[in-house]
Amino acid sequence: MLFTPVAVAVLAFVMCPGGSMAAAIHSRDGSAPAATYDFIIVGGGTAGLAFATRLGQKLPAAKILVLEAGPAPPANEPGISIPGLKGSTLFGPYDWKFLTTPQEKINGRVIGQSRGRVLGGSTALNFMVWDRAAKAEYDAWEDIGNHGWAWGTMLKYMLKVENYVKTSSSIVFGLNKGVGTGGPIQTTVDRIQPPQQLPFIPTMNNLGIPTNLESLNGNPMGAVYQPSNIRASNYTRSWAPEYLWIAGSNIHIVTDATVQKVNLQRTSKGQQATGVTLQDGTVYTATKEVVLSAGTFQSPQILEATGIGQTALLTSAGIKPILNLPGVGENLQDHIYVSVAYRLKPGFTSFDSLTTNATYAAEQMALYQSGQPSAFDYNGSNFAFLNWNQILGTDAFMLRLAALAALPTSPVDQTKLSFLTNPAIKAGIPQVEVLFADGYTGTKGYPAAGSPAYGNQYITLLGILQHSFSKGSVHIDPSSPSAPSPPIIDPNYLAKDYDSQAMIQIVKYLRKIAKTAPLKNILVGEYEPGPAVLTDAQILSYVKDTVSTLWHPIGTCAMLPKDKNGVVDCNLKVYGTTNLRVVDASIIPVQISAHIQTAVYGIAERAAELISNGYS
Ligand SMILES: Cc1cc2nc3c(=O)[nH]c(=O)nc-3n(C[C@H](O)[C@H](O)[C@H](O)COP(=O)(O)OP(=O)(O)OC[C@H]3O[C@@H](n4cnc5c(N)ncnc54)[C@H](O)[C@@H]3O)c2cc1C
Repeated sequence: MLFTPVAVAVLAFVMCPGGSMAAAIHSRDGSAPAATYDFIIVGGGTAGLAFATRLGQKLPAAKILVLEAGPAPPANEPGISIPGLKGSTLFGPYDWKFLTTPQEKINGRVIGQSRGRVLGGSTALNFMVWDRAAKAEYDAWEDIGNHGWAWGTMLKYMLKVENYVKTSSSIVFGLNKGVGTGGPIQTTVDRIQPPQQLPFIPTMNNLGIPTNLESLNGNPMGAVYQPSNIRASNYTRSWAPEYLWIAGSNIHIVTDATVQKVNLQRTSKGQQATGVTLQDGTVYTATKEVVLSAGTFQSPQILEATGIGQTALLTSAGIKPILNLPGVGENLQDHIYVSVAYRLKPGFTSFDSLTTNATYAAEQMALYQSGQPSAFDYNGSNFAFLNWNQILGTDAFMLRLAALAALPTSPVDQTKLSFLTNPAIKAGIPQVEVLFADGYTGTKGYPAAGSPAYGNQYITLLGILQHSFSKGSVHIDPSSPSAPSPPIIDPNYLAKDYDSQAMIQIVKYLRKIAKTAPLKNILVGEYEPGPAVLTDAQILSYVKDTVSTLWHPIGTCAMLPKDKNGVVDCNLKVYGTTNLRVVDASIIPVQISAHIQTAVYGIAERAAELISNGYS
């Protein structure tokens, strides 16, 4: 082994208080602790670390290697650990910094698609919202052809992930059901509820939206308080590397190791994964399985670089086709949002002051560092999950557009249509999420320094479409197919009228919220888009100029029957292979009405049980 004991010890300390973790983390310097493992996991992100840890616990004699392209970050990296600095790491050193192709229906705009390139993956960058969708949405995964993946199973595994901590100040938040304890990821509801956030839930109530205090238990509908993946003991981010704190010594992690492809060998039972090849040509051998946990954009990239995907595409990239699997990289779905921003009346101090008022920011940082409540604790905890009837009074208009948008041959589209039409479930499935954001988080920008409006305080209401009918793709770049080159990401935003009309209706509804008491009583006026944007045409134009991603891409290695463009079966095995699996967000077949990390962790927990059962 070429890793010095010092390097190993330093990295272990970085990742674990006291450095007592059993799993060994090695920075790649040309070699690895061994060349052969039982299991090789590609990607030390959300799913990869959760899966590796649980697999190692269930199979203590198995040797497990995790290969992560990014580095292990230093201890307490502020941009990662301090909730109030969320977002500051985007397009920084821990980000793959992906971009979409120019999106035709939004004026050719290119949208940033941040993804974690660091041990911990996208949980290092994410915005820490911790929630779940409606029961019927997980049940749909089973109904679409995936035996064993309904709500009951998913909830069981999602609960293993977390340790929800109720603080003395959180009695009002409910959350007595549908939350887990004893898991490695710490969750809690913000201890800070800023004065400007307090009117949000009463305002939703005045619009006829009831408060729901148990929104993580299969019914997210209503105005809700939700937790964040934040540790209540010191208000730092709790994220995927914390799984390693409970991992055994049979887990080896190698960082700075970019996998280019899986090595396959043909057998009578199908293609067998024998290991992986790194960017520098190093080969690691797997005696049992190779598992891709490289995320929605890069698990399909690795499959294609291996020769698994659409034959014509592979040929055009000079890759020898091994398995023709047309679904690889298709079925890309993403949550999109639009926002409206309002100036607060004098007397309110919003999150904006952390960036515009150095004295205030320093005071808040001093409070944070001394363990006192501080704006740097805050992540946001007020949301509303709504259906079209609640937003529009009738869903007839949206149903007509949905019927036009849904392809009869697409089980994914038909599932989304059933979320809107099936009388047994439609009232309980959110189509829109409203997110209350303290401070300005819009698109045109905070007023410039030196301008009279600099120093103004804002709130922003974000409206997120939960089930869009536009679907896109991610594929290798034929001129440079393998990682670390970026894949070609085309989400096809607003390709369907349903989606663009939905965004118009969402803007109108966000404005309605802002015009309703008690929220309206604390607002001076609309900052963005502003009063000049009035007609549907003007709102659509605003949407096209500003709509963006909530960073929830899924579906590109979909768990679906093979004849329905599936990539993996319900055991997460790639069709046509004997021992190659995918375990990450890419296997989620249909969008859910939630921020997706709880589902991704839950998939990893379930995968560890499924796969270990085959070896114990
Ligand atoms: C900015 C942002 C905000 C978000 N906010 C929220 C939120 O508030 N709440 C929520 O629930 N969800 C949120 N999400 C989404 C959520 O974090 C992700 O969906 C989830 O973490 C994805 O997990 P994953 O395991 O699929 O991929 P990742 O966690 O991204 O892990 C993939 C890993 O594979 C590695 N990798 C990739 N290619 C290779 C290769 N060739 N060789 C070796 N390693 C490789 C990557 O470096 C990465 O570490 C957010 C995401 C982002 C980016």
